[in-house]
Amino acid sequence: MSNVIVFCEHQNGNLKKGALELLSAARGSGLPVSALVIGPGANELAKQAFQFGATKAFTCESKDFAAYNSELYASVVERAIKNSGASILLASSSMLARDLFPRLAARVGGGLVSDCTELAFAGGAPRVRKPLYSGKCTAGVEFKGSGLKIILMRPNQLPVANPDSGKTGEIVPLDVAPMDLKTLVKEVVRGASEKLDLTEANIIVSGGRGLKEKENFKLLEELADVLGATVGASRAVVDSGWVPHGMQVGQTGKTVAPTLYIAVGISGAIQHLAGMTGSKVIVAINKDPEAPIFQKATYGIVGDLFEVVPVLTKEFRKVLQ
Ligand SMILES: Cc1cc2nc3c(=O)[nH]c(=O)nc-3n(C[C@H](O)[C@H](O)[C@H](O)COP(=O)(O)OP(=O)(O)OC[C@H]3O[C@@H](n4cnc5c(N)ncnc54)[C@H](O)[C@@H]3O)c2cc1C
Repeated sequence: MSNVIVFCEHQNGNLKKGALELLSAARGSGLPVSALVIGPGANELAKQAFQFGATKAFTCESKDFAAYNSELYASVVERAIKNSGASILLASSSMLARDLFPRLAARVGGGLVSDCTELAFAGGAPRVRKPLYSGKCTAGVEFKGSGLKIILMRPNQLPVANPDSGKTGEIVPLDVAPMDLKTLVKEVVRGASEKLDLTEANIIVSGGRGLKEKENFKLLEELADVLGATVGASRAVVDSGWVPHGMQVGQTGKTVAPTLYIAVGISGAIQHLAGMTGSKVIVAINKDPEAPIFQKATYGIVGDLFEVVPVLTKEFRKVLQ
């Protein structure tokens, strides 16, 4: 019988929402579910995985795993797969996962589908869909053969089940033998402006060249603070050096699918749309009524962002704070 292992990414002492979505989907499959949590605090985080459907958690607490290293992580994931006998591995389609899992697939002779937006199980076999050509069409994908099936899902695509706070499970600590690493990560510096990973954010306020200069991003940060949103950006402003690349939404940036995406002073070039048309509600603010972003927007505000954004911030503050 198939069994599923969910690779759980975490941040600030909590499993990321993407991991909770995958655990919920795995539980819904009716197959046995285990979790894999790597890094300091893994044993504590495993308890969260139990509440969302895992009955067993493979953990690696070593501080050597605090910073991501593809060789180290591939070794520990391979060990978890062997111990669990898992035939299906689910992970969020994050930057980390897209670096790690092709290496793992090659090591274990498995199949890999990344960037999936739909996941279903038919008789224990996973079926996925993924967008192609910047979202112009989607492909349904099935796995062939008996090798490990690795599925990388975009976050914010699946529902999160209610946690069962009474549920516990078995924790299986994993050790990795010392190895000669070819690279060593000395330090990871997080982008100060990014409060929550864009790919996981429920609300995003994104700014484009219409903001005119770097300092005007403050307007978006104020609106984002009131809404509890994360700030994103178009490539034009990233290329201008106003904000870091980690904030870029689009074909060569991040693919996001929040409940609400507010595009401010963004024209809606095809490469930007490729990263955000999965958003549930899109609000566009642009002074040009012909801007292509309005073709994708659920609600459009034609106006000067320097007038519209402060009014929105003020009105939302009245209601929300
Ligand atoms: C290979 C490739 C990959 C790319 N990848 C990406 C990507 O990942 N992400 C991405 O975003 N782009 C990407 N681009 C760039 C993309 O083609 C566009 O150049 C870019 O998205 C434009 O950014 P923008 O909308 O901020 O700027 P602009 O296109 O200059 O639009 C600015 C908008 O602001 C409006 N505006 C101006 N002043 C105001 C005001 N006061 N009030 C309201 N509105 C105002 C204007 O009407 C205009 O619509 C890529 C391009 C290539 C070739």
